[in-house]
Amino acid sequence: DLDAATAPLPSVSKSNVGHRWSDITSYATKKKVQSWFQLPNGNWELGRIMSTSGMESVISLPTGKVLKVNSDSLIPANPDILDGVDDLMQLSYLNEPSVLFNLQYRYNRDMIYTKAGPVLVAINPFKKVPLYGNDYIEAYKNKSIESPHVYAIADTAIREMTRDEVNQSIIISGESGAGKTETAKIAMQYLAVLGGGSGIECEILKTNPILEAFGNAKTLRNDNSSRFGKLIEIHFSETGKISGAKIQTFLLEKSRVVQCAEGERSYHIFYQLCAGAPQKLNLKDVDEFKYLNQSNCYSIPGVDDAEQFHIVKEALDVVHVSKEDQESVFAMLAVVLWLGNVSFTMIDNENHVEAVEDESLINVAKLIGCNIADLSLALSTRKMRVGNDNIVQKLTLSQAIETRDALAKSIYACLFEWLVEQINKSLAVGKRLTGRSISILDIFGFESFDRNSFEQFCINYANERLQQHFNRHLFKLEQEEYVQDGIDWTKVDFDDNQDCLHLFEKKPLGLLSLLNEESTFPNGTDYTFANKLKQHLNSNPCFRGEREKAFTVSHFAGEVTYDTTGFLEKNRDLLHLDSIQLLSSSSCHLPQAFASNILNQSEKPVVGPLHKAGGADSQKLSVATKFKGQLFQLMQRLESTTPHFIRCIKPNNFQSPGSYEQGLVLQQLKCCGVLEVVRISRSGFPTRMSHQKFARRYGFLLVENAAEQDPLSVSVAILHQFNILPEMYQVGYTKLFFRTGQIGVLEDTRNNT
Ligand code: ATP
Ligand code: MG
Repeated sequence: DLDAATAPLPSVSKSNVGHRWSDITSYATKKKVQSWFQLPNGNWELGRIMSTSGMESVISLPTGKVLKVNSDSLIPANPDILDGVDDLMQLSYLNEPSVLFNLQYRYNRDMIYTKAGPVLVAINPFKKVPLYGNDYIEAYKNKSIESPHVYAIADTAIREMTRDEVNQSIIISGESGAGKTETAKIAMQYLAVLGGGSGIECEILKTNPILEAFGNAKTLRNDNSSRFGKLIEIHFSETGKISGAKIQTFLLEKSRVVQCAEGERSYHIFYQLCAGAPQKLNLKDVDEFKYLNQSNCYSIPGVDDAEQFHIVKEALDVVHVSKEDQESVFAMLAVVLWLGNVSFTMIDNENHVEAVEDESLINVAKLIGCNIADLSLALSTRKMRVGNDNIVQKLTLSQAIETRDALAKSIYACLFEWLVEQINKSLAVGKRLTGRSISILDIFGFESFDRNSFEQFCINYANERLQQHFNRHLFKLEQEEYVQDGIDWTKVDFDDNQDCLHLFEKKPLGLLSLLNEESTFPNGTDYTFANKLKQHLNSNPCFRGEREKAFTVSHFAGEVTYDTTGFLEKNRDLLHLDSIQLLSSSSCHLPQAFASNILNQSEKPVVGPLHKAGGADSQKLSVATKFKGQLFQLMQRLESTTPHFIRCIKPNNFQSPGSYEQGLVLQQLKCCGVLEVVRISRSGFPTRMSHQKFARRYGFLLVENAAEQDPLSVSVAILHQFNILPEMYQVGYTKLFFRTGQIGVLEDTRNNT
């Protein structure tokens, strides 16, 4: 029978399935082995080959049904003994149906975690699974459980940090709703228990409800979707206790504050505040606020917003946001809500407007701490310099609405940043030790919708960078290391996404540069931007101009067509100086802080109060530039860590337990290169150690004293004494390379000696 150890090792071809039965049909037929065949709906079904003649095979299904199929469409299945292996590397046949089946086999048994070589694959169970809590943490700490788990990854990170004194990172990726944020929390929980004791770990855990309240929202894909990216860097002391942490956030989706799609919600905190509202803010019901009632969705099944509000307030107490500051925070949220209700009336027949002095305008002025007339002016006029004259221009209805919404978005974004800053102050690390931190990255995965806008453009750009980092670590560095150390190695190809990154980053003719350039032109529009792209980039193989204002990029995960509508405006992200001045004239400290924050983010300090049209406003760093800067900083930081990758997978689009859609899972596995990783890891030598280190670590296990000998001789002696087979290792110039699992015996012996 098919023996796992001696079965041929097929490779996963990029086309899709790799090894086909036709290559070994006679063998298969003789043995009546199992084989995969594809149903018309694309799903794979397992059958047994009964006979083969010419290009036709007869297979029998478990149901007893017998079918004739094209032999070429059959794909070898693994022997039953390999059902549900906990590392895909152990599969004899590493083809798509086998991988999908293995993951599904485990998923059906609540084993949601599976290793794919060095990567942990986590499939969202959409229900409580009994895999967490102190007993499990204890078991992973003692290594009494071996099955793949986020805890095991966190444990490895702690061990490697302690052993090597190198910073670690846990990089979590996946689509919206795949489970990244939950996975990050599970990892944090493990670190908090193992590194607990100083008390700061409780504060760190409490940052989650706060950031989720302010940065997460119900979307059509996920009831608790993070609308920002997050890196949390957790620092440890010499004794292994958590000493502090630092949070960095990326690209909060501001537009949601003023606009969200049918069936989605704005940020949780608005609904929480209205439900658990402090009476003194005089808030109305959610459905009376325009920003909240436009999407016809007010609640989330199973979530009590009032109760959540209490949890958030308690969490704010824990991270030392004073009661007074909390009141200011809630006041700013109320400002945003009331701003949305500010309306305008026409004052002439040129469409010019002024703000209606009603309850909403009065409330905004009161809460910001400015007078009503100033607020009204800031929302309905713009001061400008034309030639040598200062003039006040009246705004049209659409300009006034734009101004109002821009102010609301800015206040919210500033509030979010301010909160993160407060949290960071509270978690601040005293003395920072090098090589004693673990960073957890929970960042939006690749997005491709029917309509893709500026947000998807930024997100997918970030994912190209992250994918490159992933590739570099798992493929490139690995192969380079083999070659450098002079060991036998056949190169394995992987998808390099450098071309696509070039398309984004090239200066001056790349997507980002062209976008920034067009954003600074007063007359630039989405149309002129799209045309420039087509003019300059059409020869780039990763780029394709589309009809109207659209363009397509070939990303590593597939083609995405972007609609440039709104690109320039979103990239400029203007807040008019009148609005900034309004905030800085406030008698309350938060609006003042926001105003100076906005001014600080300008490229050049904004000087006098009056500026040329487009002048002061356009000095602000563009969103794309700021994001690119953050991204480079992030990549730099990650490059200096030992990475641990977790790929989260969403098994269905309904957020429901028990349903596993093969096509959906496969598409995600392909997107994040999981299959290639397994292939390369399996054929390679993932464990490595320098001769010195190996000799030092295991030398004492030698029966004969070898203290006098050089490290390489000691190493070889150890290898012989422990009967490590020659095909299981390679001796490089500086390092020893091992196939998976080989070092286990040595470690066990060492730990028991
Ligand atoms: P987004 O990109 O939209 O933020 P995400 O990848 O962060 O998505 P999560 O919010 O972590 O997705 O997960 C979505 C939902 O899936 C959770 O609210 C939870 O209901 C469920 N879920 C995820 N992981 C687990 C888990 N390990 N156990 C139980 N439920 C889970
Ligand atoms: Mg999330």
